[in-house]
Amino acid sequence: MNSEELIRLSESRSAHNYHPLPVVISSAEGAWVTDVEGKRYLDCLAGYSSLNFGHSNPEILTAAREQLDRLTLTSRAFYHDRFAEFVTGLSELCGKDMVLPMNTGAEAVETAIKVARKWGYEVKGVAPGQANIVVMEDNFHGRTTTIVGFSTDPESRDGFGPFSPGFRVVKYGSAEAVREAIDENTVAVLLEPIQGEAGVLVPPDGYLAAVREICTDNNVLMVADEIQSGLGRTGETFACDHERVVPDLYVLGKALGGGVVPVSAVVADADVMGVIGPGQHGSTFGGNPLACAVGDAVIGLLRTGEYQARARELGAFLHARLADLGPGVVAVRGRGLWAGIDIDPSLGTGRQISEALMRRGVLVKDTHGSTIRLAPPLVVSRDDLDWAVDQLSAVLREARA
Ligand SMILES: *Cc1c(COP(=O)(O)O)cnc(C)c1O
Repeated sequence: MNSEELIRLSESRSAHNYHPLPVVISSAEGAWVTDVEGKRYLDCLAGYSSLNFGHSNPEILTAAREQLDRLTLTSRAFYHDRFAEFVTGLSELCGKDMVLPMNTGAEAVETAIKVARKWGYEVKGVAPGQANIVVMEDNFHGRTTTIVGFSTDPESRDGFGPFSPGFRVVKYGSAEAVREAIDENTVAVLLEPIQGEAGVLVPPDGYLAAVREICTDNNVLMVADEIQSGLGRTGETFACDHERVVPDLYVLGKALGGGVVPVSAVVADADVMGVIGPGQHGSTFGGNPLACAVGDAVIGLLRTGEYQARARELGAFLHARLADLGPGVVAVRGRGLWAGIDIDPSLGTGRQISEALMRRGVLVKDTHGSTIRLAPPLVVSRDDLDWAVDQLSAVLREARA
């Protein structure tokens, strides 16, 4: 079947919970994907940072293939021989004591909420049922009912209530707002160090460090959702590293699965993670042998520092070029190989710009209104990146004409 037929069939037989660009991908390698007609595109979305190490990364695929032939699933009812190495490697990468593996990002966020609440009752001494968690405006932490209940995006939230209580929403980027929202029942502050879905919003310098200090002073856990910002994307292993901030809990996902399988985790020290006992939380697939083998390969790549360095160097190059795009660009934000670009709305919606880029062989995703974001795999070459910005420049020039 050709693209058109596959799209028609997909739309008629699947829920319309996405509005994909009209491209049907059938193979990929590195930063490039190929559609069913054989046309190639530069992937500047990278599965929302799930593909930081590129499509078909040889080290990750080798690890996955070897594991596929040997052992794929045991459940946590038994130990398996890939588990110890994965949890050791990931806790060392994070500088923490313990890992709780899950599958998707939303599950890891849910896990962090459960750990923080239980810690609040058992360690901090919050009265039963009274725990609250401070969260940010314009957050994106996933799609479960608890998580969308504290979303401020009507599209994500409306129609899905009633919601779990116990969340306080404050303005992102204001440490003062965090301080004011905290009371004796606050167990955690949950934030994205850079807000991805909101349009790659980078908070003001010093914000993360200030939130860290407020959390420490008030005996509140700082929970960093690094699902999209972490694992090399910003030029450091974690986006929190830019302010030398160490949260109490790291929430990880996306790139941890190497673009192969969903792998997520919460990582924390024993005084926090220790509140979870047998039977109190779990996942049938969490920490399965295939996930651990893939996760291990990802951790191995991050240990070299090579990907973080690429994100730093290519990111500097990308941001220099974007700063130079001229009229048509209202604002550019980001860090490392990650950019949110606000296009002058009179030139078109983010969707229209994305479609024009697609026709020129560059795949990006719009967010709210006229913002597009660039987040290519960290293996992208400088020449390809340069070419992608040329395409954006041409699209803006055409839109102005
Ligand atoms: C993608 C994302 C999630 C949710 O991850 P899923 O695997 O889609 O459940 C949570 N938080 C952030 C910051 C994300 O980018």
